[in-house]
Amino acid sequence: MDERSYLYSPWRMDYILGEKQSGCVFCHARDSANDEENLVLYRAEHSYIILNRYPYNNGHLLIVPNAHQMCINDLAPEAFSEMNALVRTLERVLKEVYHCDGINLGMNLGSAAGAGIEAHLHMHMVPRWRGDSNFMGVVAGERVIPEAFETTYKKLKDELLRQL
Ligand SMILES: [Zn+2]
Repeated sequence: MDERSYLYSPWRMDYILGEKQSGCVFCHARDSANDEENLVLYRAEHSYIILNRYPYNNGHLLIVPNAHQMCINDLAPEAFSEMNALVRTLERVLKEVYHCDGINLGMNLGSAAGAGIEAHLHMHMVPRWRGDSNFMGVVAGERVIPEAFETTYKKLKDELLRQL
């Protein structure tokens, strides 16, 4: 993969999410009672929003359907619609909280597309700022994430509840 792929497709770092945990991390987070510990920001009817534990940038979110499915077409239509509605809300939330200049939005369907957890599809949303694209740091595994998870969690959750 060349550097441009990282620059334009930060969700390709997906694979990191799946390391060192048995079972499906998204089913685990779905079934867990402790949302803050698991970085679950919000639970909708068919899906939930979670912070990426290995973010590309501050505010890197995932929208995860409750159903453990690989393919969009195996999701209930209302589940996919709900995910898209959450994208609209989160666009406002990320702009309000982070004043980002842009947002990367994407899904990796299947390991050939870069999915780390291919069995349970999920949508990435990554806020971007002009000049933030230190993709060399990503390649080298040295990317620094300055904001603590507790801070990110609280800021995004507060704004999300305002925007919903
Ligand atoms: Zn799952």
